[in-house]
Amino acid sequence: MTAVVPGLTAPAVAEAERWTAHNYHPLSVVIADASGAWVTDVDGNRYLDCLAGYSALNFGHRHPALVAAAREQLDRVTLTSRAFLHDQFGPFCRELAELCGTDLVLPMNTGAEAVETAIKVARKWGYRVKGVPDGKATIVVAENNFHGRTTTIISFSTDPDARADYGPYTPGFRIVPYGDLDALAAAIDETTVAVLIEPIQGEAGVLVPPPGYLPGVRSLCTSHDVLFIADEVQSGLGRTGATFACDHEGVKPDMYVLGKALGGGVVPVSAVAASRSVLGVLRPGEHGSTFGGNPLACAVGRAVVHLLRSGEFQERALALGSQLHERLGELVGKGVTAVRGRGLWAGVDIDPELMTGRQACERLAERGVLVKDTHGSTIRLAPPLVVTPEEVDLAVDALSAILGS
Ligand SMILES: *Cc1c(COP(=O)(O)O)cnc(C)c1O
Repeated sequence: MTAVVPGLTAPAVAEAERWTAHNYHPLSVVIADASGAWVTDVDGNRYLDCLAGYSALNFGHRHPALVAAAREQLDRVTLTSRAFLHDQFGPFCRELAELCGTDLVLPMNTGAEAVETAIKVARKWGYRVKGVPDGKATIVVAENNFHGRTTTIISFSTDPDARADYGPYTPGFRIVPYGDLDALAAAIDETTVAVLIEPIQGEAGVLVPPPGYLPGVRSLCTSHDVLFIADEVQSGLGRTGATFACDHEGVKPDMYVLGKALGGGVVPVSAVAASRSVLGVLRPGEHGSTFGGNPLACAVGRAVVHLLRSGEFQERALALGSQLHERLGELVGKGVTAVRGRGLWAGVDIDPELMTGRQACERLAERGVLVKDTHGSTIRLAPPLVVTPEEVDLAVDALSAILGS
């Protein structure tokens, strides 16, 4: 890997810093083009993308089938609004519902919007179906959750950076430790309409719950007539070596919340998928989105579902994931204190005595590998599912080199 040569990068970084709100702290890499698992910056340096747009790029940059679907749709019709139907809408909803094994799909745009949709649907279901007294619905969520950035969603965040200074907060949420079934059982009462969790907590550092947790959540929800909402925005669609992270434990939630990779890294596409008894509570005018389910989004979303149908990406994530975890495991005790994850998804805790997560990311970038830190000393590895075994080795070798191990 050649060292990064600064040229056009510095002025491009300065311009971005001058003209945007500082709600992100990006690495000083200015990407000009990308293909598959690789990106090229404005100075011509190439990097292996081991973040993959926080798993929005599960199929890599500009996957040919996804670009072709988008191009074809651009030449036909891109937006109708939901006031009218279009010829991609029914097929997308049917194909995604079939992938999820559910009756109905409600398309939105971003992950946060899909989470908001799930919350609204669960509340309405609680009042109209379960019979919770009006205005009393509660939803149980987990500590260290990440479900997005809206005012309601940050109301039940336990991350001070995400939450402080943005109140007053939306009531109706109970927070319990992740992975703790007793705490969950204690938090559920007759007002509880849903349990909303990530089957693997991504932003928290790729935390995998103890075996039996997801089946336990499922049976608590079933026995208390509570909806199990699985936020699979980041864990879903192949990342963990299965279509959904819940699949590893043989669990079917009542609602899937999907986003990120559903848009193939081309356009924002999100959705909620559930049975008719749940999503069927919505009536015209009660919920919507100008862009949700637009023709371009549906055409790309269909192409994504087609890619997932073959099972090829899930298999790649499984096989390459075991290679990734095996190799990362060798670094434990050699600059790495712990590794977690499943499939092509790993949270790696860097020994804080050596460097911060941020410094690790900067040094990896110098060696041509892009990753992102989360919470102090953890870095997250989530390469596109199109990486090769050699590229997985390259990423781990770079990590090993910066740790001096
Ligand atoms: C990214 C993410 C979201 C929010 O998605 P946006 O498209 O950024 O709104 C929600 N839930 C999880 C688990 C995520 O990783």
